[in-house]
Amino acid sequence: MTTKKMAKNPVKIHEVVKYPDPVLAKRGEEVTVFDAALKTLVNEMFESMYIAQGIGLAAPQINISKRITVIDVSFKKNPKDKIVLINPEIVDRTGKQLEEEGCLSLPDIREKVSRAEWVKVRAQDADGKTFEIEGTELLGRCMQHEIDHLNGVLFIDHLSRLKRELVLRKIKKMQKNGEW
Ligand SMILES: [Zn+2]
Repeated sequence: MTTKKMAKNPVKIHEVVKYPDPVLAKRGEEVTVFDAALKTLVNEMFESMYIAQGIGLAAPQINISKRITVIDVSFKKNPKDKIVLINPEIVDRTGKQLEEEGCLSLPDIREKVSRAEWVKVRAQDADGKTFEIEGTELLGRCMQHEIDHLNGVLFIDHLSRLKRELVLRKIKKMQKNGEW
């Protein structure tokens, strides 16, 4: 064994927390420091998301209550799809789409959720530079889902009371069976 071939700094993989972890219901704190540690965290978030087979991950989902989210709707296929949104806000929205959604913090739960068809988001990148990004379809949906996480909102919070109750009952059953 040689030390030369050993990885110097393997990327830290964060575990994704599941509902009903209280961090998922909290509003994330604004990011004010844009340093090397933030870039490391963003990189760790992408790798943790890929390992969990996700296309979007918000910092509260790895128990870090900050307004950071990473998105890659093409899952590594198109480098242009790798998006980092820090302190994001939806500044405009139009239309309506109704599609099935899932969440890494709610494994095996999939339900149709009504979202805006098009959104415009204002955010900062990992250097603190402000930019705007527009998205429709899956990207639009994903940005709305991830920004919700930064406000302590889960996709099941958008369901009708009856549907939400059915989902919560399913989760309780899975918890009881040790499947959650
Ligand atoms: Zn989610």
